[in-house]
Amino acid sequence: MESYVIVGAGQAGGRAVEAMRASGFEGRIDLVGAERHLPYERPPLSKELLTEDVPFELMHDAAWYKEKNINVHLAALVTSIDRQSKRVTVGESQILAYDKLLLTTGGTVRKLSVDGAELAGVEYLRTIEESHAIGAMLDDGARIAVVGGGFIGLEIAASARKRGCRVTVLEAANQLMGRALPPEIGKASETLHRGNGVDIRLDTAIEGIEGSDKVEAVVTSKGDRIAVDGVVVGIGIAPDTAMAEAAGLEVADGIVVDKFCRTSDNAIYAAGDVTQHPNPLVGRKLRLESWQNAQNQAITAANNMCGSETPFVEIPWFWSDQFDMNLQMCGAPDSWDRIVTRGDISACDGLLFQMQGDTIVGAIGLNRPRDMRFIKRMMGAAKTATDEQLADESVGFRDLMR
Ligand SMILES: Cc1cc2nc3c(=O)[nH]c(=O)nc-3n(C[C@H](O)[C@H](O)[C@H](O)COP(=O)(O)OP(=O)(O)OC[C@H]3O[C@@H](n4cnc5c(N)ncnc54)[C@H](O)[C@@H]3O)c2cc1C
Repeated sequence: MESYVIVGAGQAGGRAVEAMRASGFEGRIDLVGAERHLPYERPPLSKELLTEDVPFELMHDAAWYKEKNINVHLAALVTSIDRQSKRVTVGESQILAYDKLLLTTGGTVRKLSVDGAELAGVEYLRTIEESHAIGAMLDDGARIAVVGGGFIGLEIAASARKRGCRVTVLEAANQLMGRALPPEIGKASETLHRGNGVDIRLDTAIEGIEGSDKVEAVVTSKGDRIAVDGVVVGIGIAPDTAMAEAAGLEVADGIVVDKFCRTSDNAIYAAGDVTQHPNPLVGRKLRLESWQNAQNQAITAANNMCGSETPFVEIPWFWSDQFDMNLQMCGAPDSWDRIVTRGDISACDGLLFQMQGDTIVGAIGLNRPRDMRFIKRMMGAAKTATDEQLADESVGFRDLMR
């Protein structure tokens, strides 16, 4: 009977072990995670866990892993991979042998390197403990600086405002969410946040953090000194590739995998935020940081480890919730020749299409979740539509699918 080891007990690792047992694999499974919790999903950490009295939920409880005969090693860091002998080292000396290995190591938050970044009251968000630490800072009236106007920073800003905090967002670029989205969407989000009382400062980097034993102020590149009670930093993650690289696996922006989620070693697979993978629908290699990718790529990798030969092919999809705006995006275009809009983007009620010829290469919906379901299917099926049809509210996407 074969043995599989999964390194990283986050969302991708958790979904992978589920899929392995669901596919009928009866061999040994070791799931090793550096955190002290069983696998959980992260989207609530910046949303309802900061604003509502909701419980922290695991994907499955301990009894489930026991029943499925999955050996879970928590608070356990895999420190090296020996590809020759097909063994990994956990911590200092524990050895686990594998026939196939799955790397779902995700990413680590990028840290600020300015003066004062080590002060108490400067927080980052990736884990449940960090979400609790941020939640504890969000007292009514607390002054919070959010560094980074990307998805995570803006979700935290919205949550902090809902809790009655006075929030300033510092964004070094000239628009919000500029790494992933066009200016029209950045502008709509800016209007939404400003309308809800968030002080948005664009073209403004953080230069330093002041305080004696705890953060007291942030200093910006514009020379402003803003008194604060807490700082939350959301400036992205770096994929956790060091161990894979040390083992000689091919690494670019992420662990490089083929369409079957296999690394440059046939016995080693990878899935989730850590991979750079080909996407034939987008036409290039991608590294995605999204719930859908973590789930479905992990399931595909697990099934392929168990004997299937299924390529991982799907339209990238992501969502973010900020105040009463549900934002969804499909595709990951790096270029387009024109934009078509439907509805009122500036009022957070519309759709924006990124078009290349007659192909929809990207779509963003603001408070249009139902439309986005059909648009995602249209994009997956390479259905075309005219600009007039896409812009016309009276044309249903269900009809365009036919
Ligand atoms: C606050 C927050 C909100 C989000 N909201 C959304 C959203 O609204 N929509 C959306 O689409 N996506 C969202 N995401 C993104 C989504 O949660 C991630 O894409 C997903 O968690 C990636 O899963 P993963 O398993 O690949 O990586 P991770 O969740 O990072 O898990 C990797 C795990 O591996 C462990 N690990 C790393 N190295 C080792 C090692 N050597 N040994 C043992 N263990 C190791 C880590 O400790 C970690 O537990 C959000 C993310 C965050 C942080």
